[in-house]
Formats: sequence, structure tokens, C-alpha cells
Amino acid sequence: MGKYYTFIGPIAAGKGTQAEIISKKYGLLHLSTGQIFRDAISSGSELGQKVKVIIDSGFLVPDNLTNEIVKDMLGKIDLNKGFILDGYPRTINQVYALEDILFEFGIKLDAAVMINITEDEIVRRISGRFSCAKCGQNYHKEFNKTKTEGVCDNCGSHDFIRRNDDKPEIIKTRLQHYYSEVEPIVDFYNKKKKLLEVDASHLSIEEVTEKLEKLLF
Ligand SMILES: [Zn+2]
Repeated sequence: MGKYYTFIGPIAAGKGTQAEIISKKYGLLHLSTGQIFRDAISSGSELGQKVKVIIDSGFLVPDNLTNEIVKDMLGKIDLNKGFILDGYPRTINQVYALEDILFEFGIKLDAAVMINITEDEIVRRISGRFSCAKCGQNYHKEFNKTKTEGVCDNCGSHDFIRRNDDKPEIIKTRLQHYYSEVEPIVDFYNKKKKLLEVDASHLSIEEVTEKLEKLLF
């Protein structure tokens, strides 16, 4: 039997990147919510059509529909391979639903893996992002600078834009919402002795992967 994990963590902590790397390396299925939604939509199923209407109108997919889609998807894959869930469960109601769904399939999570970084680090990682106004190339003022200051590597343009929601105040408001949702999730897995935590602040992608491998395998 494979291993079953869910990766949780705030934006910019690298959870999706790590889920991708670890799942490839250990032959687990990487099940990201975004991909699950896209697959459901492209399958044209009734559930997929419901999701499409909601996403197209700019709303978040509600818990009950998300749970149904996840259950439907788990019924279609080879569970013996094991998996890493990425982006699910996102609310405490989804946590309870996942417990029921896995019980029906006769499997249990091996661990919920919290990949965490400090709030300051999140703000630093996100607020430094900017992009070329002409060609859309993405940059970061610390981690991914233009080769010549003020000139786009790709198209030579001198105009750059910063997204409004990348401003520190806006990031902090979004984070408050995130923390209030994740707290009961962390408590739940902690009480079940299923919580593993990695502090990814100030670490490279490779260093975080190494930490995860030691914890998980
Ligand atoms: Zn450009």
C-alpha cells in the first residue's frame, strides 16, 4: 500500500512545489485541488458542470461540492499508489468529510504535513513580485531580478507593474482569513497525532525537500 498525505500551508510557503517534487520522486499521485477541478470540468460530468458555473462566476467552490468532487476522483484512481493531496482539505468541514471518504475507501491518512513560513517571510516573498507591463514576464525584487535594473530581460521594456493584491496590507488581511481557517485543521490532526510540521522559512526548495523526506519516508 502507498502512503497517504495531505500538504497544508499558507500561500508562498511552497506546498504545491514540494507536493510535485515528492510525489514524482516517490511515485505517489499528486492530487491538487486546482487540477481536480479542471479535470472534473473537462470530463463534462454533471459535477464538473456545476463547478464550472461557480468558478466562471468568480466564486469559491463550496465545501459540499468540493467533497463530492474529491470523492468522485478518489474512486477513479489507483489508490494503491498512494497520494499527496494539495489544497484539500481547506476547511474543518472538508477535514471531517475527508475522514468519512477515506473510511469508505478503507484507507487512512498517514500524516497531514504543515509546510509553514513566518508571516514576514510570506509578505517578503509575495510583495516583491512584479511583472513586465508589456510582455507579462514575472520577476521578484530579491529572488528573480531583471539582469539590468529597470529593463525587462525578455522584451527590453522599461514599464513594470505590481499587482494590487501583492501589497503588504492586503496580503496580511488574506493571511488572517487563512489562519482562522487552518487553526482548527491543525488542531484536529494534532490531536490525532497525525500532524507533521516543517518550518520552511529562509530555506531553499532543495532544503525543504530534504527535510520532508526525512520526516515522511
Ligand atoms: Zn517584457
